[in-house]
Amino acid sequence: MSKLTRWDSKDESKRLPIYQTKASLIQAVKDSTFLVVIGETGSGKTTQLPQYLFQAGFCKDGKIGITQPRRVAAITVAQRVAEEMQCTLGRQVGYQVRFDDCTSQGTVVKYMTDGCLLREILADPVLSQYSVIVLDEVHERSLNTDIVLGLLKKNFSNPAQATKGRSFPLKVVVMSATMETEKLSAFLDNCCIFSIPGKMFPVTCTFGSAIGPKDTESTTYVKEIVKTTLDVHTSEMAGDILVFLTGQSEIESACDLLFKKAESVDYRYDVHDQTVEGLLILPFYGSMPTDQQRQIFQPPPAGIRKCVVATNIAATSLTINGIKYIIDSGFVKQLNHNSRVGMDILEVVPISKNEAQQRAGRAGRTSAGKCFRIYNKEFWEHCMPEYTVPEIQRTRLTAVVLTLKCLGVHDVIRFPYLDCPEERFILEALKQLYQFDAIDRRGRVTRLGELMVEFPLYPGLTRAVLKATSLGCQDLLLPVAAMLSVENIFIRPGDPDKQKEADEKHRALSTKSGGMNDFATLLTVFQSCKSSDRPSAWCKDNWVHWRALKLAFSVETQLREILLRLQRKDFPIETFDGNKSELLRWCLCAGYFTNVARRSVGKVFCTMDGNGCIVNIHPSSLLSEQKAELDWIIFHDVIVTSRVYIRTLCPIHYEWVKDLLPKLHEVNVYELSSVAREEVTDEEMIKWEKRKAAKRQPEVCNEDA
Ligand code: ADP
Ligand code: MG
Repeated sequence: MSKLTRWDSKDESKRLPIYQTKASLIQAVKDSTFLVVIGETGSGKTTQLPQYLFQAGFCKDGKIGITQPRRVAAITVAQRVAEEMQCTLGRQVGYQVRFDDCTSQGTVVKYMTDGCLLREILADPVLSQYSVIVLDEVHERSLNTDIVLGLLKKNFSNPAQATKGRSFPLKVVVMSATMETEKLSAFLDNCCIFSIPGKMFPVTCTFGSAIGPKDTESTTYVKEIVKTTLDVHTSEMAGDILVFLTGQSEIESACDLLFKKAESVDYRYDVHDQTVEGLLILPFYGSMPTDQQRQIFQPPPAGIRKCVVATNIAATSLTINGIKYIIDSGFVKQLNHNSRVGMDILEVVPISKNEAQQRAGRAGRTSAGKCFRIYNKEFWEHCMPEYTVPEIQRTRLTAVVLTLKCLGVHDVIRFPYLDCPEERFILEALKQLYQFDAIDRRGRVTRLGELMVEFPLYPGLTRAVLKATSLGCQDLLLPVAAMLSVENIFIRPGDPDKQKEADEKHRALSTKSGGMNDFATLLTVFQSCKSSDRPSAWCKDNWVHWRALKLAFSVETQLREILLRLQRKDFPIETFDGNKSELLRWCLCAGYFTNVARRSVGKVFCTMDGNGCIVNIHPSSLLSEQKAELDWIIFHDVIVTSRVYIRTLCPIHYEWVKDLLPKLHEVNVYELSSVAREEVTDEEMIKWEKRKAAKRQPEVCNEDA
């Protein structure tokens, strides 16, 4: 029997359902401007279609760009395709995700996140370097994919317009798992739908009894997941297991428990199959090192059962071969706008029924499978919605509205959305842009707004960076912005003794930074590590993630490059005559005055943005022990569990935000609705000012408020 090597992937790819349709698929792309391609997950859309187009000569005039909503998917798939095309990653086949560009002059097949494509559209609206754009995973309905979809429809629907500024027409292929295809085709001028025939095997789904509507605690369902996994391992025939959980820490604790318990399992020999001896446990989440991610796709050693414990990434973005059993927690981590705190928050929520079907489907790709839902029927009926709400209808739109405005789309309400966001969300975005001085009262992008749009950061953070640059102290803010853009840098060991040691090291870093300021601590960590002779050893010694810091160094360089490019143009200059040691916090206020809180009774704080939400300092903040000494503070983010926690914060003086806070109440969102529709005329502006003067209220915030 021949040994299966990596290079057999060519033969492997011929076995994929898409291979049968190769010629007609290429023809369909040739024949149309827009094309919708649908097929079951794992049929070969993401890895094969770009290769077919490459072979058919589509790269003669320009590149093939393929978007993914998730950065890990973009990277992993590009690696796979580079392998299949037998080239070095970054040459002919490459990828680009936020802060990581692995492409070169010669790259013709480029995988990227949808956010990266949106940035490219900003720089070159007709995408003149591309011959084909493939929007992948459209059924995920990520915010950026939805916006790009609208822009492509707007710019390329009309054939005359479609070639404007281009020497040849652009082809747009929209790929989706089998969902909402009619709607997609109708949206894209009733374009053709190309369907990849694929056979799905039956999957039997069973409900558990332990998890009901009230059992939403992570530790509760993680325990149940572990128990179910071991049950499946000991009682089911050979076949790999895929477990769905919500995020890194949960996945790691599930894997730890599995490791511990698996050793004590009395493995049963199955009469039909003698290979069930051991369990190979593999975690899989977005921020995992890439070399570990590759293991997921390798077949397990003979006689061993593979068990991948993953986030939703394994639902449709990436297909793992050999999965026969699914264990579904019923939860997912999702970014949602929380009106109570007025911010977007990553929260753990029940998945939709539709999503649960997708997850189950992963077990029936190559043979019949089983799906074990750990939740009961009551949970299914009362907690799980039918469909997942598209991101555009549940998150803050500030950044995309600014992008649209910069692209000349003034009428942000009548923009072609596949599903319209609520008008209130658009108005909120405009209000925030106005507060950050990114647009004026007429909805026109200001000079500052044009600078802000260039940064792939949260707009408030960009505002603070720009403030610092105007004052000539960008060296303070750029490292902080970089550190806030990478995953958590502080290691929190599970062992209590080690935890104590880590806490002490972290506290020392805080003291070194002057104490009482989480942002300054980030700056100190960045600078201390960077100036160290052996930075990785420094990290180990201080219980800091070296990988996250390495990334932060690279992010800082990239942000600096953007800034240098912008500084060549006329850049506003300001002066600061306060105390130099307060400069960092002062600049932060320019972007974080929307996140101001003041100590209320006891140890809790109250936000000042009009929501008056009661918040607590998260125990991971180095300031959590000093609550009593704090009065006014600004914070970077919020976590909601049974309480609302703020994380990464620093104290400020009321005077610093005194003039900014009224901005939070200056415009009523509804006053912005004409701004949302189109640019406001002089006449309307006068009417508005008059109305405003008549309604003017006393200052909302003063020192005694
Ligand atoms: P689709 O996009 O239709 O869901 P894909 O093109 O992602 O399908 O997957 C096609 C096949 O390629 C699957 O069998 C999958 O397991 C395999 N594959 C994709 N990425 C990798 C990888 N990084 N390593 C090994 N196999 C992979
Ligand atoms: Mg795919």
